[in-house]
Amino acid sequence: MRIAVIKESYPGERRVPLIPATAEKLVKLDAELLIESGLGLSCRFTDAEYEKAGATVSTSRRELLQSADMVLRLRKPPADEIELMKKGCIHVSYLDPFNEAELVELLRRAGISAVSLEMIPRSTVAQKMDVLSSQANIGGYAAAILAAEHLDKIFPMMTTPAGTIKPARVFVIGVGVAGLQAIATAKRLGAVVEAFDTRPVVEEQVKSLGAKFVKIDLGETGQTKDGYAKALTPEQLAVQKEGMAKACARADVVITTAQLFGRRAPRLIDQNMLAGMRPGSVLIDMAVESGGNIEGSELDTIIEVSGVKVIGFGNLPGRFAETASQMYSANIGNFVEHFWDKQAKVFQLNRNDEIIKGALITHEGEIVSEMYKSIANK
Ligand code: NAD
Repeated sequence: MRIAVIKESYPGERRVPLIPATAEKLVKLDAELLIESGLGLSCRFTDAEYEKAGATVSTSRRELLQSADMVLRLRKPPADEIELMKKGCIHVSYLDPFNEAELVELLRRAGISAVSLEMIPRSTVAQKMDVLSSQANIGGYAAAILAAEHLDKIFPMMTTPAGTIKPARVFVIGVGVAGLQAIATAKRLGAVVEAFDTRPVVEEQVKSLGAKFVKIDLGETGQTKDGYAKALTPEQLAVQKEGMAKACARADVVITTAQLFGRRAPRLIDQNMLAGMRPGSVLIDMAVESGGNIEGSELDTIIEVSGVKVIGFGNLPGRFAETASQMYSANIGNFVEHFWDKQAKVFQLNRNDEIIKGALITHEGEIVSEMYKSIANK
């Protein structure tokens, strides 16, 4: 089975989909592995390293796409590359399907079996291939580091002959994978950390990291069967904002990570709450790419409101491209290995498997994802 790995061409993206160590693993499965020349250069992996791992290097993306049985890449495919692929080709990447209806339609019409890595179920068996978790982990770390860099106070407490410096106060909103890592990183840097999430189950996790859980009584909130937050009613959101305004006012740094699966991120911080914060405070909106948690936040921009900085940088995991690539590459390698038939030396697209059921969007000219159909038709 011929697997082609395509070099990422999205502007500013430094992460790479496959590192040489994973290339070696795929070659050991007896896959015929081809990579596009320059695949790993943004993380300093040379073509020679991939060749040493057993891959063949090609300078023609067109030829790779036309001949591959399976294509691996990082971001969604550009529309004009879809028609180059063979009918029946399995394409594995981020796909952002809920915001990419046209692309999904192109993949369906081209007869591509498109796997959306974001749709891999959050189950124990799928953890090793969960790109949402691996990248959110790095993103949470990056958010805390970014905040520390932009705040003009230090994070830790210091007792010095020149006096005692109080620790910075960090408030993290949304305690999924990214939020937990942001808490852990801010704690390691010495900040006093508070956190809030609408899912009450995370209180224990927050406490176990040595942070304080901010209690706001919202009534019934719950979570979906996959562990995702449910959207709040407008009344609940108003109560939440009131409770959070106080925590924001005492914070030097606010990191927002709140997401709702398949929907726009909830708007949690408004201009009034920003105005109630101390000038010099820093906010990082980690949800900026899915609509933003903070009113007025802008993608890849720092805005200032009443002396408070709101940072809306996208692709936070990409700031630590080598580590993020290492993890993405391991995830994608584990995905291929999990479904690899060692005897037949092919990837088995097992339609009865829960992981494939969750992540396969288009197949044999049909849209096959029930989740996609139910959310996209709303
Ligand atoms: P996410 O990125 O979808 O959302 C981030 C956080 O925002 C979530 O904790 C969510 O509850 C929170 N949120 C949503 N609306 C909010 C609001 N109004 N105010 C405050 N917070 C709000 O989350 P994620 O990191 O992808 O994790 C989603 C779930 O998947 C979690 O339950 C997590 O534990 C679970 N998970 C399971 C596995 C596994 O078992 N393999 C792996 C990773 C994550």
